[in-house]
Amino acid sequence: MLLTARYVLPIAAPHIENGAVLVRDDKIVEIGDIEHLRTLHPDEPVQDFGLAALLPGFIDLHTHLEYTALRGLVDDLPYSRWKYQLLQKERLFDAQDWEDSALLGALESLQSGITTVADVTETGASGRAAQVAGLRGIIYREVATMEKPLVAGVMADAEADIEEWRRVSDGGRLTIGIAPHAPYSCHPELFRAVADYAADGTPVSLHLAGSREEYQFVKYGSSMLATDVRDVFDADAPLWLPTGVSPVRYVLQWGILDAPNVVAVHCTQVDDSDIEVLANHNIAVAHCPRCNAKLGMGITPVLKMLEKGIRVGLGTDSPAASNSMDVFEEMRIGLLVQRAVLGEQHFMVARQFVKMATLDAARALGIEDRVGSLEPGKQADIIAVDLSKSHQIPTHHPYSTLVHTANQENVLWTMIDGRVVYDAREWPTLDHERIFARAEQMRMKLRV
Ligand SMILES: [Zn+2]
Repeated sequence: MLLTARYVLPIAAPHIENGAVLVRDDKIVEIGDIEHLRTLHPDEPVQDFGLAALLPGFIDLHTHLEYTALRGLVDDLPYSRWKYQLLQKERLFDAQDWEDSALLGALESLQSGITTVADVTETGASGRAAQVAGLRGIIYREVATMEKPLVAGVMADAEADIEEWRRVSDGGRLTIGIAPHAPYSCHPELFRAVADYAADGTPVSLHLAGSREEYQFVKYGSSMLATDVRDVFDADAPLWLPTGVSPVRYVLQWGILDAPNVVAVHCTQVDDSDIEVLANHNIAVAHCPRCNAKLGMGITPVLKMLEKGIRVGLGTDSPAASNSMDVFEEMRIGLLVQRAVLGEQHFMVARQFVKMATLDAARALGIEDRVGSLEPGKQADIIAVDLSKSHQIPTHHPYSTLVHTANQENVLWTMIDGRVVYDAREWPTLDHERIFARAEQMRMKLRV
């Protein structure tokens, strides 16, 4: 099939005006000028998107699909108080709720042009939803305990789950990893155990240096994370003592940064020496600008990280934090916040953020040989984004039009592995009416 549009953004190469992408089966075969490809392949069926952009599907470097139905529940509290409230509310969910909440997240991903998720899940619902939806993903099994005697049991349960998830999931599109939740919810021995387990290259994701409260918790033993929130995770854990070091230095001591395939999430509370540590250990960073701003967590020093060669991609985080899985919002807010704080000396541009949402995120996950850009031989993970609406025309520069004017509603069509998984408010892999009805039921349940 020949896909055509006003703009084709291969990402790894300059954009093509009036471009075309030839897809056969699950692969991209050729990219070029419309007329040229039409002449070369006169019998190929054509799907034209008009005034739109064709680009690689977004890679959401950090999310929790199973938390989607907790969207909008706690909106006006800073990180630690938000987390505390959420921990209370999520107890109201039963196993089926987690499944359907994850399906809602998978549905929203496809509609938002997200073709790969790096998802942290405790129940496994995210992986099952990703599989049903046809998403590509790294599904990280979350582990957490602050009690040393529980570490071995927590790891044994996680290893059994990971083995089972690997057995039942589509190995072509889904990879299973492990996620020690955060410095305030994991005993140091748990970091050590995960590091040993993941020494074989098993993907690791951890929330790290996310909030000021976490920084205060690790370094000074203070903040609400050391009291109320910790009591929810492990009321019986011994008193937490100050470590005197930053969160990055703290987890470094416990070996987790030595694992070969690590994505650190947030990293707002890092100084130059922390950035040096992350760079020296080849740690990738999931930047979630909207969540960081909304929960008052801080600002990730993206430019400094890029200058040190750190792989940085964008994550939406869960809708329970950021309200929607809208990568356009992440690109826009991410870019504007960096411009606001860096000033004219270090002016970042729209193209950098589109790259962070695609090819750079693929590099962060080590899957750039298969996805992240439109190149012959890569998997056909492609989206079409409408650029014809009144808030978008005229279009002069496709990258800035995407970043400054588009939103998730402008995604027209989503393809993963050559299969159309979203097309004009239709989701061929999902029962959207049932999922929307279940979301309303979950809303009623959460009202108590
Ligand atoms: Zn998260």
